[in-house]
Amino acid sequence: MNEQLKLLIELQEIDTVILSIADKIESLPGRLEQYRAPFKEADNALQKIKTQFEALSKSRKNKESEAEELQEKINKLKTKSKEIKTNKEYEAFLKEIEGFEKVKFKLEDEILSMMESLEALTKELKKEELKVGKAQEELKQQEKAVEDEKIKFHAEMETNKVRRKEFVAKIEGDLYEQYMNLLKRSGGAAVVQTSNEICLGCNRNIPPQQYNDIKKNENIFTCYYCKRFLYFKEREGDKPQSH
Ligand SMILES: [Zn+2]
Repeated sequence: MNEQLKLLIELQEIDTVILSIADKIESLPGRLEQYRAPFKEADNALQKIKTQFEALSKSRKNKESEAEELQEKINKLKTKSKEIKTNKEYEAFLKEIEGFEKVKFKLEDEILSMMESLEALTKELKKEELKVGKAQEELKQQEKAVEDEKIKFHAEMETNKVRRKEFVAKIEGDLYEQYMNLLKRSGGAAVVQTSNEICLGCNRNIPPQQYNDIKKNENIFTCYYCKRFLYFKEREGDKPQSH
């Protein structure tokens, strides 16, 4: 095989690996998203319950002061009851007390049902706090795993870059320049195989005579259409060689 062609094929193999490692590194932060989402969701739910809890606690306190104020009014009225002289006055006094007490009972009912709601909210809070904690723990673990993989991928990248340099040093300058232009233009595949008179880079036909020459791998050929470097390697499904 042509020595330069062989080097180009090997360089392409290394670059394919390097590009796939770069892809993996790039996709790592995205992997955390699926763990960040449930954490955020749980945390939002927790904040909502907290807000509900605080609002309800506040209105419960307000109702309690209202009830206390009413009780004071009732107490004051009752101390004044000694000054009552007529039956009529006494009836009016009872009516007034009754009115205040009705309101007070209503308030107390409301406070009671608020306490029940607060209790239910406390349970929900605890449940949601557990959820948030779990999601946070999972996120942390994934962040650590992603960080470990990042380190591993960067190390692999370095190894391949060192190997790459060795090949580049042996490839003729013009060829390497051509290769690099192709690599950038063709989405990472500058050197491709041929099969059954077809360029596997662009899937277009190769003239039969040129294909026969390519099969020898003695010279460097490029595809007429996509300009990629072409080489031949026996593949399953290739037509048997015609003699
Ligand atoms: Zn092509």
